[in-house]
Amino acid sequence: MKIDIRHLSKRFGSVEVVSSVSFAVREGELMGILGPSGSGKTTVLRMLAGLETPTTGEIYIDGKLVNDLPVQQRNIGFVFQHYALFKHLTLFENIAFGLKIRKWPRKNQAERVNELMHLLGLSGLDARYPGQLSGGQRQRVAIARALAPRPSVLLLDEPFGAVDALVRQELREWLIRLHDELDVTSLFVTHDQEEAMEVSDRILVFSKGRLEQIGTPAEIYEEPATEFVARFIGAMN
Ligand code: ADP
Repeated sequence: MKIDIRHLSKRFGSVEVVSSVSFAVREGELMGILGPSGSGKTTVLRMLAGLETPTTGEIYIDGKLVNDLPVQQRNIGFVFQHYALFKHLTLFENIAFGLKIRKWPRKNQAERVNELMHLLGLSGLDARYPGQLSGGQRQRVAIARALAPRPSVLLLDEPFGAVDALVRQELREWLIRLHDELDVTSLFVTHDQEEAMEVSDRILVFSKGRLEQIGTPAEIYEEPATEFVARFIGAMN
């Protein structure tokens, strides 16, 4: 198991927003975290990233307990909405940023950035600044930047949130394609049933801080484990 989460809970003051959640993510899996707004999805992702400390429970990545490891040592890349691109850096420099601070040799930086630009359909845009890119391109740069240092885990919080329907569809396809090409295990948060169904290998369904079901899109659609899942998935049509 790439990621193993055991009895993870998070309390803010007297409110428990994540309640004893356990699940495992397999190597190379693209896992969707689906649930209504306020169900604790982002908090789970933030605990995985090391941006929030669990109240109880354990997080294992590659068999290693990471609860007390700082963000930088978890080998995780993330695309969170508030981590905007650097406006004054070019597309190339944005993607290379994490490699530069890790002191990768220049030649290796350029190779890796070119590889990711190619994979994400950004070739030829090296010298553009974020302001000269479309919303979909910017989001792909953010994904490339997160992937550049070869993290073993990629976390995405509503990665398709801020773009229109057509671009959303395009980004979903990019994410699936990318996942087929790269050796990475990913979790992405969404409140959109259809999106989770289309993109995920398996889905975690959350409601009120609890994990209601984990399964493939077909399992969740055909055999909802709880009344909540049945209703929530039913709300798709
Ligand atoms: P989701 O991603 O499913 O929308 P979140 O994980 O963002 O849900 O939030 C779950 C609950 O935790 C919400 O009620 C939210 O208001 C609360 N919450 C999140 N972060 C904090 C915080 N830092 N302090 C207090 N409450 C928080």
